[in-house]
Amino acid sequence: MINEILSKAAIGELHKLIDTNGFFVLTCHAGPDGDAIGSTLAMAHYLKALGKEAQVIVPDAYPDFLAWMPDSQEIVRFDKHRAKAELLLGAADVIFALDYNGLKRVDDMGPVIACSKARKVLIDHHLAPDDFCELSFSYPALSSTCELVFRIIYMMGGYEKLTKQACECLYAGMMTDTGAFTYSCSHQDLYVIISMLMQKGINKERIYNKVYNNYSEGRLRMMGYVLYEKMRVFAACHAALITLSRDEMNRFNFIKGDTEGLVNIPLQMKGICFSAFLREDTEKPLIRVSLRSQGTFPCNKFAEQYFGGGGHLNASGGQYHGTLDEAIAHFEKVLQEFCCNGQGHS
Ligand code: 5GP
Ligand code: MN
Repeated sequence: MINEILSKAAIGELHKLIDTNGFFVLTCHAGPDGDAIGSTLAMAHYLKALGKEAQVIVPDAYPDFLAWMPDSQEIVRFDKHRAKAELLLGAADVIFALDYNGLKRVDDMGPVIACSKARKVLIDHHLAPDDFCELSFSYPALSSTCELVFRIIYMMGGYEKLTKQACECLYAGMMTDTGAFTYSCSHQDLYVIISMLMQKGINKERIYNKVYNNYSEGRLRMMGYVLYEKMRVFAACHAALITLSRDEMNRFNFIKGDTEGLVNIPLQMKGICFSAFLREDTEKPLIRVSLRSQGTFPCNKFAEQYFGGGGHLNASGGQYHGTLDEAIAHFEKVLQEFCCNGQGHS
């Protein structure tokens, strides 16, 4: 049905690893998104269907609009229940690293994973993974880690064991990482996979509504405010910038996830192919940077060069240590530099 593009040798090794072990811990990156929560939960559902013990551990909070995912209430947060999480990570036979390419992406959980005697398996679609797992499935060309998890389970002959709940999680991750199938989703296999998930009884409309039509009033008003009052356009560079301070977020009763997707909106403007979003972190004294682009503008290079980050060509992020005003000034300066060097829009 779908092309079996993954390494058969690696699939065989993973199959053996699953057969011969009992307790699996599934981890994802800090600030978990739909793909992170979807892929960890889906893998946990699958392993449980095989009669294994499986536990999802995430570095910190995930947005409310993902809390409908089956078994999300069983997720352990490392930042909130550190002692329990450390025990589980220490006791695991196998730790899966899902949707991240290096231990720096899991904050304080990194050293604990590094020290664990568990076997480690990477399943991810970000570029250039660090070498911290003995078995690695790194496929940056794929839409999402959820697509990769489906392909792995399919190639292991596990499609029959996929429950409707697991399929809902997989679909949610594929949907959120592609902006509801608007980017990074041009491979025909993806739609065969969706069809196979639908055969298990998932309801696409229901999942869409749970994720995208579930915002608070504050989130919508904040969106209006940001676009009307805070957006700046740098027409010569085909770029736009939006910013939010902690005070502004508080004004709109900010909760985790409320800024999700905002950075994509300026790309709807004619002629804009690069969008940046700078916001004060709600807990740490730093500025979070989200970057999105269309076409060949390399967001990841921009994030690497100027904001200590990285990511994909069209979606990347990083951080800035300083005030929001300093971050904005830095952005303006480096945007000019990047454009003048011809590294941006051609
Ligand atoms: P977001 O804007 O949603 O926070 O991040 C978009 C993408 O940028 C993520 O999926 C990830 O690939 C990448 N990213 C975000 N922050 C960082 C960072 O600090 N370092 C690296 N290497 N990548 C990041
Ligand atoms: Mn992802």
